[in-house]
Amino acid sequence: MTFDLRSALPFLLPKAISWAQEREKEILNTGIPLTEYEISLAKRVGVSEPEKVRISIVHGQLPLPSDLALRQAGLATGLFGPHMAGITLGHSICICRPHESIRLLSHELRHVHQYEQMGSIAAFLPVYLQQIVDYEYANAPYEVDARSHEIPA
Ligand SMILES: [Zn+2]
Repeated sequence: MTFDLRSALPFLLPKAISWAQEREKEILNTGIPLTEYEISLAKRVGVSEPEKVRISIVHGQLPLPSDLALRQAGLATGLFGPHMAGITLGHSICICRPHESIRLLSHELRHVHQYEQMGSIAAFLPVYLQQIVDYEYANAPYEVDARSHEIPA
């Protein structure tokens, strides 16, 4: 099944941004701050405000958007697929148990750096999602960059 994210993106983008902002707020309020070691990892991958980062560990699957169109788009593009072990929204990181690892955390922390560079979720997501449209998930420049900054355990 193919999903035409390119044509759906203008319609989905505002929904994706609000969903991401709401999830970030929730995780910033309830998540766990980084440990001293994790702060050092964050600094190594370029995070400028590691003390703002919060992590939420979930069991089984990442939280899916309740909006059906958004959920379908996320699943079709692989963003919320069963193999997805983590997602980063601004300074909030959601990680699926049992996939937590130094490698995964450093990857997600590099996404935090990318959000910091862009300044906000509303600025980052349009660029990131356009990359997914143009290059597909695996080859999106932000993903390639995050993979190249992974720190092996
Ligand atoms: Zn990634």
